[in-house]
Amino acid sequence: MADYQAVMMGSPINLSLSQDNPQRAREVFQLIAQQEALLTVNRPDSLLMKVNRAAGQHPVVVPNALFQLVSLAHDVSLLPGSLFNLAIGPLVKTWRIGFSGQRPPPSDQIDKALALIDPQDIELDPDSRTLFLRKPGMEIDLGAIAKGYIADKVCQYLQAQQEPYALINLGGNIHTLSRPEEHPWQIGLRKPFGGRQTLSARLAISGRSVVTSGIYERYFLYQQRCYHHILDSRTGYPLDNDIISVTVISESSLIGDIYSTLLYGMGVEQSLAWLAHHPELEAVMITRDNQLICSSQHHFQCHVLDSNQ
Ligand code: ADP
Ligand code: MG
Repeated sequence: MADYQAVMMGSPINLSLSQDNPQRAREVFQLIAQQEALLTVNRPDSLLMKVNRAAGQHPVVVPNALFQLVSLAHDVSLLPGSLFNLAIGPLVKTWRIGFSGQRPPPSDQIDKALALIDPQDIELDPDSRTLFLRKPGMEIDLGAIAKGYIADKVCQYLQAQQEPYALINLGGNIHTLSRPEEHPWQIGLRKPFGGRQTLSARLAISGRSVVTSGIYERYFLYQQRCYHHILDSRTGYPLDNDIISVTVISESSLIGDIYSTLLYGMGVEQSLAWLAHHPELEAVMITRDNQLICSSQHHFQCHVLDSNQ
């Protein structure tokens, strides 16, 4: 097995290949850079930012892959009661969590952002393959799903190259191709608000993706309150519920990434009820009262390491 590292998309990226192959590793990192150039909103020259800059002015033609991804994100945003909102950009930028904002923004700024985040104000035209944001100042933000999408691309690429087994870790967003010599991959689940090295559980998986949405990676404290980076389109504030993190185990990392955010929004009870009807998705949740709750374990095994979360 050979391991390669890079820093991309503001995160440390780890790639494990079945054997030493620096050329293949370079190609994987190039693929990630190409995809990031389409999807990021942290660089003014990305294709997505071109769509955002044309808000209120004109539709922009985009490549089929980006059109499909935005269509999926749009559909998920319009699901009844969905917390996921691809139009959340102006609110994310108002809060700037993880960048410079260390106190909640004034309420008039939040109100201003709330007027610009309705997913119904995004027009998708499949015939001309154009995206149009109706109001000036609107912004699509794919931050909640870009890593999952890219992790799938990396695994598809490695599969096409007939790599026997591999693992890609895009800053906590993990996807695996098969398993090394009949041993499953072992994935550590970090203890929320614990040290980098402290684990709550270890997951054994093979050929599946492991994606976590949690409130303990990017947040700030202000007057004893924790303000994290998953925002509620209804209130304009970080979502307040009983969950600290949701880890989704799935075949597709994009689907895992979408559902880690959606399930986070549903809370524990509703998530478990939903998962019971969707056996293709499985999840591990850590609650505010420090319980670790697993849905089913058909496609992975969860070994709890720290019972006292
Ligand atoms: P990370 O892997 O960085 O923890 P997540 O997958 O948990 O990311 O998604 C969080 C990111 O998604 C935020 O940084 C922001 O860009 C975006 N976001 C925040 N709130 C929402 C929301 N309600 N719907 C969709 N995207 C969101
Ligand atoms: Mg996500």
